[in-house]
Amino acid sequence: MTRDADIVVVGAGITGASTARALAQAGRGVLLVEQFEPGHDRGSSHGTSRIFRLSYPDQHFVRLAQGALQTWRELEAECGEQLIVPTGALDFGPVALENARAMAASGVRHELLTDAQVRSRWPISADPGEPILFHPDAGVILAGRAWEVLIAGAVDAGAALIEDVRVTGIAEERGAVRVTTSGEDIVARACVVAAGAWGRGLLDGAGVELSVIPTRETVTYFDLPGALELPPIIDDAVPDPEEHGLRRPGLINYALAAPGRGLKAGLHHAGPPTDPDDVGEVDEAVVRWVSTWAARRYPGLDAEPIASETCIYTNTADESFVLERHGRIVVASVCSGHGFKFAPFFGRTLAGLARDASG
Ligand SMILES: Cc1cc2nc3c(=O)[nH]c(=O)nc-3n(C[C@H](O)[C@H](O)[C@H](O)COP(=O)(O)OP(=O)(O)OC[C@H]3O[C@@H](n4cnc5c(N)ncnc54)[C@H](O)[C@@H]3O)c2cc1C
Repeated sequence: MTRDADIVVVGAGITGASTARALAQAGRGVLLVEQFEPGHDRGSSHGTSRIFRLSYPDQHFVRLAQGALQTWRELEAECGEQLIVPTGALDFGPVALENARAMAASGVRHELLTDAQVRSRWPISADPGEPILFHPDAGVILAGRAWEVLIAGAVDAGAALIEDVRVTGIAEERGAVRVTTSGEDIVARACVVAAGAWGRGLLDGAGVELSVIPTRETVTYFDLPGALELPPIIDDAVPDPEEHGLRRPGLINYALAAPGRGLKAGLHHAGPPTDPDDVGEVDEAVVRWVSTWAARRYPGLDAEPIASETCIYTNTADESFVLERHGRIVVASVCSGHGFKFAPFFGRTLAGLARDASG
């Protein structure tokens, strides 16, 4: 059986949901195809929270984040709900100074704090002399709720969500694109591949190279009452690598509130390359490292984790994103471990590419 469609979006993570919503709201016919149950925890978009920040050392990302914040504000106004809790965010270590320079050049509000100022504002510890940056326009994205709002917006605008159907092949043919699935085939005018860690394998078959490496990252949760009143932390002042047997360059700790759970903390880019179809295994060395770090930053925190889980990063070599059009196929990889905040913004870009691709 073959079904006709206007535009197929592969993958109902935050990128596919954002793109499907933008397309459907522009009046396009959308089939959003997801291989698992929507909201599953095997990709990159699950969990209750993500950091929204404007602090980047590269002005290009600061400006993108400014655009993304505007898109979140519009989304919040449309759905009548707060999707980013305005806590501000703290950066610790040398990166704080680099970020402050890029933010100053882009006119983003920020202040450099002393350790005493940090301790007087929040139950967070800081060492004398370490660079500390605070910017008030950051916050905690209510990620699970944001995903629900975007999916509901797509469906309300007419998109059809097809669950538990895997796309197995994509091929351009005679002014259309054939999308082969574990159910019926679909012939569409264009196809957007927002398949996260599965995208590279799927696109290989279509002759499109997606140069990304999926890694499996470990996230750990701690009991911390009042966590949602605290700013998320990015910290490149890490514990002694020798202490935990982790010798990976460029490690950065992060922590943020996880509504309903407490504090969520992790080590950015610490995970090994992975096959997204493997069962995720928590890296106990990362759990120990993060527990040590969190106990130092949050006085009084019970360093015994209450839970740990894995989540997949899909990484480009330069920790950036992929938004490309190849004929009638649009390719999206909005991850590298920091893409959630940009997804609604890039969803509009991807919708524009799909409109062009559909001829
Ligand atoms: C631990 C962790 C912490 C993070 N922290 C932050 C943060 O603080 N701030 C931030 O901005 N970003 C953060 N990110 C990054 C952010 O979560 C990702 O950028 C984002 O979730 C990527 O979403 P996606 O939709 O592109 O991919 P995914 O969520 O993986 O969605 C892809 C979807 O496609 C489906 N799919 C794949 N192949 C097929 C197929 N063949 N057929 C049908 N369906 C298919 C998958 O099942 C999946 O549902 C973090 C990521 C992780 C893992």
